This record gives sequence, C-alpha cells and structure tokens, in this order.
Amino acid sequence: MDTITHFINGSAVDTQSGRHADVFNPALGEPVARVALGTADDVAAAVRAAEQAFPSWAATPPLTRARVLFKYLQLCQQHTDEFAAMVTREHGKTFADAQGEVARGIEVVEFAVGIPQLLKGEFTDQISRGIDAWSMRQPLGVVAGITPFNFPVMVPMWMFPIAIACGNTFVLKPSERDPSPSLLHAKLLKEAGLPDGVFNVVQGDKAVVDGLLDHPAVQAVSFVGSTPIAEYIYSRGSASGKRVQALGGAKNHMVVMPDADMDMAVDALMGAAFGSAGERCMAISVVVAVGDAGDKIVDALAKRTAALKVRDGMASDAEMGPVVTSAAKQRIERLIGEGVEQGAKLVVDGRNYKVPGRENGFFIGGTLFDHVTPDMSIYKEEIFGPVLCMLRTSDVGSAVELINRNEYGNGVAIYTRDGGVAREFVRQIQVGMVGVNVPLPVPMAFNSFGGWKRSMFGDHHAYGPEGVRFYTRHKAVMQRWPNTASAGAEFAFPQMK
Ligand code: NAD
Repeated sequence: MDTITHFINGSAVDTQSGRHADVFNPALGEPVARVALGTADDVAAAVRAAEQAFPSWAATPPLTRARVLFKYLQLCQQHTDEFAAMVTREHGKTFADAQGEVARGIEVVEFAVGIPQLLKGEFTDQISRGIDAWSMRQPLGVVAGITPFNFPVMVPMWMFPIAIACGNTFVLKPSERDPSPSLLHAKLLKEAGLPDGVFNVVQGDKAVVDGLLDHPAVQAVSFVGSTPIAEYIYSRGSASGKRVQALGGAKNHMVVMPDADMDMAVDALMGAAFGSAGERCMAISVVVAVGDAGDKIVDALAKRTAALKVRDGMASDAEMGPVVTSAAKQRIERLIGEGVEQGAKLVVDGRNYKVPGRENGFFIGGTLFDHVTPDMSIYKEEIFGPVLCMLRTSDVGSAVELINRNEYGNGVAIYTRDGGVAREFVRQIQVGMVGVNVPLPVPMAFNSFGGWKRSMFGDHHAYGPEGVRFYTRHKAVMQRWPNTASAGAEFAFPQMK
C-alpha cells in the first residue's frame, strides 16, 4: 500500500512520529493507502522551510509570481482527470462531480493570476504641501490552511493560490481521509517553477493542527470544516495573535413558494440534497414548503429519491456515491432512526442500502422525511449525508423566521415566480449566500465565499477580493522630499497646510 507523505521544502518526507492511518476507498469499504500522521516537529520543519523561502518569494515581482501560477493552471487543466479519480477513490463522490470540483478550484487560480492588478494600492497626490500618500498591501509571511474531507482538491485551492500570489509561503494540513490530491498539487506547483519551501504539506490530525496554531511564526490560519472545530481554531489561533478565518458547518434551507415552477424546484432539490451524497457545506438539507407547495412536490420527490442511482462513483451512470467512512454511515443511520422516533414521517428510507458487487461500501440510499419540526434532531444537527427533511409553513414570513432562528447561516435558496417576495426574502434573510431560483449559490472565484452566524468565525470570507485582503496587510505611506531648507521641528499634531 502506498504511503502518503508530507511535502516539505520541495521533497516528499515521511513523518518522524512513525504514526500512520488508513485511507479508505469508501465504495469498497477497504483501505487503499496509508497516510502519515505528523507531529509538532514535522510542523516545525515545514514552517522553517516556509520561513526561509519567504523573503525571496515576497520580493519576487507579482507578475513573475503570476507566471508560475499560469503554468500551474495549465498543469491542473492537464491533470483534471487524475485529480478527479483521486477524489472519487478516497472521498467516494461521482467522477463527474469530482471533475466539477476540480474546475471550481482551477477558477481560483484563474483569479489569482490577476495578482499584479489586485495588489495595486491607492495614491493621493499632495495630501499636504509637498507630501504625497499611498497605500500598499504586503504579504503576511508563513500562512497555514487546514481543510476538510469533502472537497480535497477545491477547498485547499480556495486558499493557497491567492496566498502564494500575494507573496506568502504556505503550509497545508489536508484532511487525513482523502490526502492524495495535496501531493499532486505540490508536484504540479514544483513543476510550474515554484521555489522549494513556498508550498509545503504536513499530513495528519489534531497534533498537526495544534502545532500550526501554536507555532509563533505562523501569521494566519485559514480553516474550513465543522463548526465545533472552526470555533476551536478561531479561539486558539486568535488567542495567540494570528489572523484567522474559520468556515464551519451548515444547515441550508430551500423555501418553495406555492407559485414556484415545481418541476424546476424538484430538479434543484434532487441535485442540491443528494449530489455528493449530501456531503457539501452548501447542500440543501431542509426544504421549507410554503402553503400547498409541500403537497405539490412530495410525490415527485419521493419517486425520484427512491430511484436515485447509488453506485461506485466511477460507474458512468452513478448519480450518488457512498459516504466517506463507516463511522459517517453509522451516524447518519442513527440520525434517521431518531427522526422516526421523534415523529417525522419517513417517506423514503435509505438505511441498509446495498450496492451489488460493493457490499462492503459505505452506501446510504437517498432518504426523505416529511412533517419535520424544528425541535427534532434531524432538523437541529448537520447530518452531512443524503437526507432531505421537509418542513411546512403557512407563509413566507414564518419561513424567514425559522431560517433566521437557525444557528447556521451558510447558504439558502428561494424558489418563486414573484420578484417582490424574492427581493424581500433576500433583504431579510440572515444567511451569507442566497440563491433566487438557484439551489447552490456558491460564489465564483472573483467574488468571495462565506457564511454568517455559526457557519463562519472571523471577518474575511474566503477567496476573491476578501481572500486578497486576508492574506495581505495594509500599509499607509506618506512621503516628502523637501526642496527648501528645513522649517524646523513641529510639536503640534500634523494638520494639512
Ligand atoms: P472536521 O471539522 O472534522 O475536519 C476539518 C479539519 O480539521 C481536518 O483537517 C481535520 O483533520 C481537522 N480536525 C478534526 N478534528 C480536529 C480536532 N479535534 N482538533 C483539531 N483539528 C481537527 O470536518 P470534516 O468532517 O473534514 O468536513 C465536513 C465539515 O466541513 C462539515 O461540517 C461541513 O459543513 C464543513 N464544511 C464547511 C465549508 C464552508 O465553506 N463553510 C466547506 C466545506 C466543508
């Protein structure tokens, strides 16, 4: 079995700890590789390499940095299917879905290559007699990224292309469930001409995360993962003076109004609830049916949920693959059981699902609940599996109140033909990313991504212009070149003259 190692200072190195964990193919339910589990010493080696590489990389002209990323961009396009096959093997999602993930990651590189334009400051001539002022943005130094299992190619790409383009050096701690793509990123960046030490990978679990949070040379931490860990990262990282953006979990609602195009709404719900087996932070896990919308869609949803093609993600007709681990499968099936015990109507039951030829895989069939209420655990908890819960309300006002009371605020959607209702919904809803007749409003690379409430800790959203701000510090400069003899020292606070 292959060992998935660290990548430090331009070379693959195994951990000093001797600890390793199995990496599974979830469709087979079998280990396919083992991954190094690093230590604080491994972190120290990676941070040292990144610190040494920083001065020269920060001094490299932005256009030269962009040219390295241009080359990396081309290599990513050439290796899209290799990335996607790794994702399907270790995560389980369908190959077509994995190709989509790679494409969305590449878009961030397409944004980052515009860095000479993005880093331009502001200039004001003559702020006072003989004095000009300007602003500039400078890189922070060594920055770290800690990423979740559900987008092993794309989420790291929300971070390092922009961080590196800005002149920082980077240490990535990928998810230990699907770590292989991190090494392909490292290989392609090196092939593109990135100097050693600018991009490093330390594999592992909590020990590596804590090593990064406590290392005094790490200036900033970007995290994406579940809410309890995001909150932990934010408090421990900011307590030690680091800049932290920590994106957490979600419970995303879709409101279906009685006037919506019901075929369009059902199509949207199928893809948004069951794509990637519901393991997306923007997955729709709750449909809030207003008025008689629930009666109009429930039969179609039930029929299509029961007919979902659940397969090994490499099967060409697969619509949904397995969930990531055996523990995730057990947890999701337990929550489905709790939904039944707490009185929700189980319309389609995906438990005990078997895929012929893949009997040991971590499969769950599509699951649909109706008449769910806000006190049930299937509503309160992020299930992160192929389970769609339908709640019913009498009017759009109570739908908005329900969503605004929820502790999460990542994504939301409304399906309606009424522009006035949609406009007011967009204005009132306490959620970071809103779709109007769009189920997964994931911003493109040139906008920024982030939720509200307990879906995000920190100020700056990910990638786009917010990413550039996160990975740089603002500096204000005032300059005078006197052409007369000095007028002597001034002791009063400076004012315009
Ligand atoms: P996770 O929180 O378990 O793990 C995320 C990262 O934190 C991994 O690298 C993991 O090794 C590390 N980690 C886990 N436990 C830790 C601990 N006790 N101390 C320190 N580090 C620890 O999340 P996951 O299961 O990999 O990913 C799924 C979660 O991520 C879901 O909640 C999903 O909503 C969320 N997510 C959010 C976004 C977003 O943009 N808001 C995007 C993708 C995923």
